[in-house]
Amino acid sequence: MWWTSSGDPSLRVPLRAALASNFAPDGGLYCLLPEPWDDWDDLLETPWPDRGAEIVVRFAAGSIDEVAVRKAARAALDIPAPLVPLGRDNFVFELFHGPSLAFKDFGARMLARLLPLVDDQTPSPRTILTATSGDTGAAVVSAFLGVPGTRVVVLYPKGRVSGLQERQIACMGGNTAALQVAGTFDDCQAMIKAAFADAELSQQLRLTSANSIHVGRLIAQVTYFSEICAQLRRRGIRDRPVVAVPSGNFGHLCAGLYAKALGAPLGQLVAATNRNRTVPDHLDGLGWQPRPSVATPSNAMDVGAPNNWPRIEALFRNDLPRLRSELRWGSADDETTLATIANATQLGTVLDPHTAVALAVLARVQQPGEVGVTLATAHPAKFAGVVEPLIGRTLPLPEALRTIATRTIPQRPLPRDPAALLRWLRRHDVGTGARA
Ligand SMILES: *Cc1c(COP(=O)(O)O)cnc(C)c1O
Repeated sequence: MWWTSSGDPSLRVPLRAALASNFAPDGGLYCLLPEPWDDWDDLLETPWPDRGAEIVVRFAAGSIDEVAVRKAARAALDIPAPLVPLGRDNFVFELFHGPSLAFKDFGARMLARLLPLVDDQTPSPRTILTATSGDTGAAVVSAFLGVPGTRVVVLYPKGRVSGLQERQIACMGGNTAALQVAGTFDDCQAMIKAAFADAELSQQLRLTSANSIHVGRLIAQVTYFSEICAQLRRRGIRDRPVVAVPSGNFGHLCAGLYAKALGAPLGQLVAATNRNRTVPDHLDGLGWQPRPSVATPSNAMDVGAPNNWPRIEALFRNDLPRLRSELRWGSADDETTLATIANATQLGTVLDPHTAVALAVLARVQQPGEVGVTLATAHPAKFAGVVEPLIGRTLPLPEALRTIATRTIPQRPLPRDPAALLRWLRRHDVGTGARA
């Protein structure tokens, strides 16, 4: 399987090359044009996560050692993903049972385990540099903690992530460090861009991005769409489900479309956003208009310029009418999102705000008799401040959060200034297990 570029469709590189760098040589995103597989009936009989590992092995075929890939992928994907019934004809696919309690664990763990396989002989450690509004940082720190040959530096906007998320990002120590930026998430991203743009520093520290455009994250997300189909079949359901994807940067939706293009028996996918309507407006025919993000209760989806979208357009060869005919879409405002969380308790489930956006949009586009699946991307306890008042009770903290809830947060404040980040990166080392 070859990777091409959103900017240069004639490019052909294997997974190994696509993993090793953040962007294609022309500056575009690495993209797939998948050919369907014809053995899905057999594949779906294979248990999770062996099936997930098999899918990654096919992605890597011929470019990375098969035995090593299978072992790494299986370990990365070894997270339960239950499909839980919700009322009639509907299910919630829970992707939040990993260490940081969000679906981003799958992608971050895959990236952490595959990167060492593409480095032959590494003279110096990689620096994984990432900005986060919460979930990405927590997943990346947890995934790379203790991985030899890597150090992790995470920037987050001071005072704008939840207390629990902040502890997940900043309190792990070891080869990880978190910097508190006096600014917004967009400021953090601009600072990171400046670091990557400094060719000398970038090369010296082997700066590596862990954001959602990285193919290492993307391929992990492709794998578990198959688990929806496998669990439906185990329940005797052979209908192709309509799958609602809570979307921000649209990496998750892109992964689902890749799974479908590979032949996984999925129905139409639903692009669901909060009030950040760049994509729904585009699909409604209003043109592609990236804009500043607005803050909502589903903050990991507060994205006004979704960076994976060019991949989705490339998959449909920039044919917008065809793309529109293959997708459903919609958005939920804050009021609808909160009402959906409150109403779901009557069906016996507690939703986080991101999942609630997707369920609210699915309710609008699902036809009678269709099987609907909503991707649940975060554990509701991560957003207790939003969820608890709506459901009228406190949520017990999962074990993973309980152990860190009382830790003090090491302070590494940074002004909102790209030069300050460059100085910090030049002066500070973050412990790496692998360094002599
Ligand atoms: C990141 C995130 C999303 C959005 O995923 P994208 O791939 O950026 O579209 C949705 N829900 C949660 C909880 C997230 O952390």
